[in-house]
Amino acid sequence: MKKSLICISCPRGCHLEISSAAAGEWLVSGNQCPRGKQYAIQEATDPRRMLTAAVPAKVDGVPCASVRSTSPLPVALIPELLNTLYKMRLDTPAKRGDVLLANWKDSGIDIIFSADFL
Ligand code: SF4
Repeated sequence: MKKSLICISCPRGCHLEISSAAAGEWLVSGNQCPRGKQYAIQEATDPRRMLTAAVPAKVDGVPCASVRSTSPLPVALIPELLNTLYKMRLDTPAKRGDVLLANWKDSGIDIIFSADFL
């Protein structure tokens, strides 16, 4: 299996190629620094993304609250998490950094407010 990627670890955007080798090793080319190899292996084995979202509010004149994940989440968990967040209707004040959802799906990752709400 050979896969092409663009490294998003810095603005240079190196074009990477990754393929599996013997004994669970990975061959990565195109990276101009070690972070590119780490990124390519992460993408091939356990792709993750930071999540930011606007959660609907149930308060006149305040459309939503800004939230984010505390670490990159497995990509497979993101659609269900967004569904959960978009169904919420927040009406309780919160401070930046307060936890909205703790340990989402036992990932060890919290969803926190990224700005004061109300
Ligand atoms: S491989 Fe290194 S230099 Fe290239 S985009 Fe990734 S982090 Fe930047």
